[in-house]
Amino acid sequence: MRGVILQAPGDVRVVDRPDPVIEKPTDAIIRVTAACICGSDLWPYRGADPVHEKPMGHEYVGVVDEIGSDVHSVAVGDVVVGSFVASDNTCEICEAGFQSRCIHQVMMGSIGTQAEKARIPLADGTLVIVPGTPTPAQARSLLAASDVLGTGWFAAVAAEAGPGKTVAVVGDGAVGLMGVLAAKQLGAGRIIAMSRHADRQALARRFGATDIVEERGKAGIAAIKDLTAGYGAHSTIEAVGTQESMAQAMGVTRAGGHIGFVGLAHDVQIDGRELFVKTVSMLGGLAPVRRFLPELINLIMTDQIDPGVVFDMTLPLEEAAEGYRAMDERRAIKVLLETQR
Ligand SMILES: [Zn+2]
Repeated sequence: MRGVILQAPGDVRVVDRPDPVIEKPTDAIIRVTAACICGSDLWPYRGADPVHEKPMGHEYVGVVDEIGSDVHSVAVGDVVVGSFVASDNTCEICEAGFQSRCIHQVMMGSIGTQAEKARIPLADGTLVIVPGTPTPAQARSLLAASDVLGTGWFAAVAAEAGPGKTVAVVGDGAVGLMGVLAAKQLGAGRIIAMSRHADRQALARRFGATDIVEERGKAGIAAIKDLTAGYGAHSTIEAVGTQESMAQAMGVTRAGGHIGFVGLAHDVQIDGRELFVKTVSMLGGLAPVRRFLPELINLIMTDQIDPGVVFDMTLPLEEAAEGYRAMDERRAIKVLLETQR
């Protein structure tokens, strides 16, 4: 099969990779019908994480092609979505709703789903069946549910976005935009998107943002305080993962507020004394997307949400390198890769 590897930072190649095989009785093999490039794929692409000949990709929608002898809840031919972490969905961590930290977790990034096929470990726990046949638009939205939508949703839930709350969203990448959509669905009245890019501002408004703040740093904090009678946001989504974005999130959140942080942290330092004085709740990390998938799939298949519009570039798998370049240069918000020839 064909699949994407990152040979070295900046060097994306589409190569012949061995077809996946059932390795454990709980595995399934899927034919990947669509995959995509994640903002987090840019960290190794830019050399921030060490990398050598790494298979890439952890988001996927597919059709079950083969199942192991101990797989019971999915069958060959089922259309399925899973998250970027394979999980048994039965251990105590999973039962508490944190499937992304399942005691048996397997990171799908170690398998690489930017490929024609993929092995899905713990298939019964990992895969969720899509009822009916998705339209092309629904299929794109299901792919978003695999990571960015589920991650934005978790951030909004962690930030306790809901009726009567003002939500601030730091980061206008795909996850931040999905956080806006989630906050809207969860009933937040006021949603402030922090963005400097006209195209992303427009998408944020489409997904439910009521206000846009272009300023950053101290000016950004001041702008959000101005919009909230001096208090700051009740609920803040941090969807970038840098020192600046975390400081921004802390700065715009009111005392007693909640921060949901889902940007993959790189060199973020939090000062203990500052955190102590700040008096906020913080929950974040690897988003347990599996917790939300059944609900998200239902919202998508009944056309109540259309997160798939976040894909603003579609390329054949063979042109993955151009997709990485486009996202790196911010010419694209999120790139969908068509994996079937
Ligand atoms: Zn588990």
